[in-house]
Amino acid sequence: MIRSKPRPKPRKRRRPDRIKLWTGRLNRTRPRLVDDVLDGLASIYGRQTWERRLDPTSELILTILTQNSADTNAENAFESLRAAYPGEGEVEVHKPGTGWGGRGLAPGRAPDWAKVEAAPLPELVEAIRTGGLAPQKGPRIQAALRRIRQERGDHSLEFLGDMPVLEARDWLTAIDGIGKKTASILLLFCFGAPLMPVDRHVERVAKRIGLIPAKATADQAHDYFLAMLQPDQMYEAHVNLIRHGRVICQARRPDHEHCPVADRCRFVNPKAP
Ligand code: SF4
Repeated sequence: MIRSKPRPKPRKRRRPDRIKLWTGRLNRTRPRLVDDVLDGLASIYGRQTWERRLDPTSELILTILTQNSADTNAENAFESLRAAYPGEGEVEVHKPGTGWGGRGLAPGRAPDWAKVEAAPLPELVEAIRTGGLAPQKGPRIQAALRRIRQERGDHSLEFLGDMPVLEARDWLTAIDGIGKKTASILLLFCFGAPLMPVDRHVERVAKRIGLIPAKATADQAHDYFLAMLQPDQMYEAHVNLIRHGRVICQARRPDHEHCPVADRCRFVNPKAP
């Protein structure tokens, strides 16, 4: 009996990596775009050097307080947490840097996180009411503090600085209510980790220039930037793109005339190089 040969299984076609495709095309068709944008922004906002601005637990809670709120409101809420649940650690001097939209926190000690975690929820909500969305943020803050303590035995997040960067980001995003943006802010600002937090300003400016695809979600935008930027460019890119979004490339009235990257921006010229 003649046996027919088994047919080879059809090979699965790998889906092309959309991020590699995008960065490859950008390099071919718009060479030096990233460098030119960073140089252009630095020409008006300056070169940025990393400096830790707060301890990591304070950074996390302050960042949660900024979610969908103005930075000044988040500062007010954080200061009221300090007053309601005074801590006994060292006095911290907040160094918010150029991209921050508030006045900077007054020097002070971090709140007593154990007391914040154990506080009756209505009391905590009242303490952070000035920050906006307090009924959502109160439980989020307590859940985050509880998770950190349960996993680590206390509320310190300094251990994240010893972890590989993406593992540290995954550790944080496993906590409910903490997405890539919040995790990246904490790791970038507290440890100088090469991550690129993407908030609404960064996303808007980057899409207008054509650094990232118009259809990329905010979550995907993080990964586009990781593929495009050198590790030592991320801090400056984050800070100066935010600043640009606040000052010149505003959502409603972008001031193209005074923009140092207008000649490379696809929003004003769809054929810009
Ligand atoms: S040219 Fe206009 S749209 Fe483009 S980055 Fe500058 S301000 Fe924004």
